[in-house]
Amino acid sequence: MVASRSTLSRDEVVAAVTSILGVAQVDTDESHLRASSVDRFRKYTAVHGIFDGPIPAIIAYPTSTDQVAALLELADRERIAVVPRTGGTSTEGGLETVVEDAIVLDGSRMDRVIAVNAEDMMVTAQCGVPLQRLEDQLREQGLTTGHSPQSKPIAQLGGLVATRSIGQFSTLYGAIEDMVVGLEAVLPGGRIVRIKNVPRRAAGPDIRHVVIGNEGALAFITEVTVKVFRWYPDTARYHGFMVRDFGAGVGLLRDVLTAGYRPAVARLYSPEDARQHFPDHPMNQNLVVLSSEGPARLVAATSAAVEEMAAAVEHLPVAEERIRSWFEHLNWGPDRIEAEKQDMLRTSHLGYTTEVSVDWSRTAELYHAVMTRIRTTFPRAGDLTLLGAHSSHSYQTGTNLYFVYDYRIACEPRREIEEYHVPLNAIIVEEALRVGGSMVHHHGVGKYRTPWVREEHGSAYYLLSGLKRTFDPHHVMNPGSLFPIDEAGLPVLAEDGRQ
Ligand SMILES: Cc1cc2nc3c(=O)[nH]c(=O)nc-3n(C[C@H](O)[C@H](O)[C@H](O)COP(=O)(O)OP(=O)(O)OC[C@H]3O[C@@H](n4cnc5c(N)ncnc54)[C@H](O)[C@@H]3O)c2cc1C
Repeated sequence: MVASRSTLSRDEVVAAVTSILGVAQVDTDESHLRASSVDRFRKYTAVHGIFDGPIPAIIAYPTSTDQVAALLELADRERIAVVPRTGGTSTEGGLETVVEDAIVLDGSRMDRVIAVNAEDMMVTAQCGVPLQRLEDQLREQGLTTGHSPQSKPIAQLGGLVATRSIGQFSTLYGAIEDMVVGLEAVLPGGRIVRIKNVPRRAAGPDIRHVVIGNEGALAFITEVTVKVFRWYPDTARYHGFMVRDFGAGVGLLRDVLTAGYRPAVARLYSPEDARQHFPDHPMNQNLVVLSSEGPARLVAATSAAVEEMAAAVEHLPVAEERIRSWFEHLNWGPDRIEAEKQDMLRTSHLGYTTEVSVDWSRTAELYHAVMTRIRTTFPRAGDLTLLGAHSSHSYQTGTNLYFVYDYRIACEPRREIEEYHVPLNAIIVEEALRVGGSMVHHHGVGKYRTPWVREEHGSAYYLLSGLKRTFDPHHVMNPGSLFPIDEAGLPVLAEDGRQ
């Protein structure tokens, strides 16, 4: 529990926000405030109605950039903590309101698609546009953003940019940072900044990256322009190969990528993880999944190369139709999330993930190190019902590993995070850092990986610290996210170029 640094009382915060937005654009319903104090990181405690942290004072629903600016001017002047939000699918504690009497700044009513520009191949939309809605609209025009995170039915543009999200077809289309052309954001204090839309520039450092991935700790994103691509609905091809050795699967992905091919999907599942998706998958086989999409001639060339490279590796083939129909049902909408909640309550069982990235040369080593360390040192290893990993996004120099772990909860619901998630997450993060990888590939640092953020960045933490000092000098933006905080709720930043 971190005390508010504002001199305004909780009631005064509510009154000040309401005077800017009006009663129709604020919410102080107790149950909504409680639910707004956590994100999916606390899914088990939340289904048990346990909300241990401070409950925010108010949820604010601005409908314009000027309203966001007025709210951030108020928060900065009065030192009120602000937690930005759009779709609410955050998984790393990014939405937790750790400082008392915070404002949850919810951009979901800023939900207009402003302009589709089919000649310059870009679309501009407000932060609260759900990706699925944008994608459906574009596809009617034969276009696609190419962005397809599993949370696509719910996640919205602001959060997708704020977390550096990535979608299933990233090998072909890139991650969100490759897609953002320009954007508009509001800084603490209320200054509105717009980074214009140009194909490229060499006018100094790429300032888009000050905002992309800021996790609401530096700025509130109000509007985003992303690239669009031509959509080819009928050309996609899918490939599946079972390989005995995880390292051989890594090698196959690497061969395809470094040979210069760009499949849309390039994945490798450990046997345990593959079984989550294909219940009859054999436990002695890893699964490589590749797909290609786009112009038919490119798809044909990519598919032929994939088959040729796979033939050089000992494998068992998987039918194309099996992979295709699996992909068509991979995404999570509200119904699936609700079903997961009910299941957790009934079975005291849940699953979490931790995703990291690593160079090709150390990928198999990281996989085996994590599996071994968890199985041999995690005190509650006996409660694990699943431990596996997959690589789902690959690059010229390496890939990501997305560790999945499910467990039966054999402790007080309140203790679940400390007894299970914290130690498991720590092992994966520590091992990733040990082999020279990144401790977070795409979910963001949130509030639960901040203990390692200085180790992650090393001497460059000075640069990140400088952004916080410069753009959020009164430290009101999403305290505890991205930057660790002290007891007073102030960020722990690098000093004088030294850590
Ligand atoms: C079932 C499921 C599947 C998922 N699959 C993927 C996946 O495939 N790929 C992937 O990358 N992620 C995935 N995620 C994680 C999550 O969906 C992403 O992080 C997504 O980008 C969050 O978007 P959102 O709109 O829900 O943001 P929110 O949850 O509302 O917020 C996320 C973070 O961004 C900040 N934020 C939100 N809006 C703004 C804004 N306008 N300005 C500044 N900061 C803001 C918040 O403070 C918070 O820290 C998944 C999550 C779930 C629950």
